Amino acid sequence: MKKALILLIMAQALTVSAKDCAHCVTTPTWLSIFNPFSLPAVPAPEPLIEIRTPTLARDSGASYCRRNTEVVDTIVFHHTQTPSTSTVQNINTLHLDRGSAADPWLMIGYHYTINSPYAGGTVPSPVVNQGRPFNLAGSHAGTNAYKPAGAETRRLMALDGAMRCGRATGPLTEASDKFRDGLVKANYNTVAIALIGNYAKRTTENPGGWRANSPRYPSASTIEMAGKLACELQRQHPRLTTIKWHSFYNATDCPGLVKDRIPQIKAVAARFGCTFN
Ligand SMILES: [Zn+2]
Repeated sequence: MKKALILLIMAQALTVSAKDCAHCVTTPTWLSIFNPFSLPAVPAPEPLIEIRTPTLARDSGASYCRRNTEVVDTIVFHHTQTPSTSTVQNINTLHLDRGSAADPWLMIGYHYTINSPYAGGTVPSPVVNQGRPFNLAGSHAGTNAYKPAGAETRRLMALDGAMRCGRATGPLTEASDKFRDGLVKANYNTVAIALIGNYAKRTTENPGGWRANSPRYPSASTIEMAGKLACELQRQHPRLTTIKWHSFYNATDCPGLVKDRIPQIKAVAARFGCTFN
């Protein structure tokens, strides 16, 4: 009799429990330790920096190339060869003016700009702005710059859809100039970061450059921001593992003394867990 009563109480308890939680699957606490499905989702890491996305004018008649972002394996550093007070909108206007009527430029050729007070100056927090979207090929390394690339980049680049070009008004077709003598077109597999300012020596061609014995370097906060931006981009695009600079591709004095700071930029990225060669 006593046994029957206990069973009845247990059955009632189960009924109530099932009614209260008709759609629940309860997992005993001890099991949740071993059940990967019950573990809380790992939150995406906080972005290292804020990347502003200003609205920039575009030339709707210009040609451009949309790419599979997986082909991008290299960051190329530039300076803008303008005053350090220039804005990303100023650079966008400069680049729009650089095109000709027959071959207009779409917009700014760089993908990111960092406003970058010079070392020794008053240093507000550097700001990163998006220029050309990452999924569009940039105009920065030189139209005729071709360099060796790894086997995986060459394989991805060879795929149909890797680089589709055309005018905004017409259809996009696969680029016919992805390779030359086994080398890859640099504008296609790279992303451009430009430090706003003039870090090259003064010459007739570069009257805004630094005078002899007064070299101009980026501030420590600019280098910090450049390293964080590089690491943030690598987090978003894991194939992005190389850092170069403009004069690696062309005979140019760009990016001036920024080139001497590439090791420090890589060291900042390493502090945040990113490795660049
Ligand atoms: Zn450059």
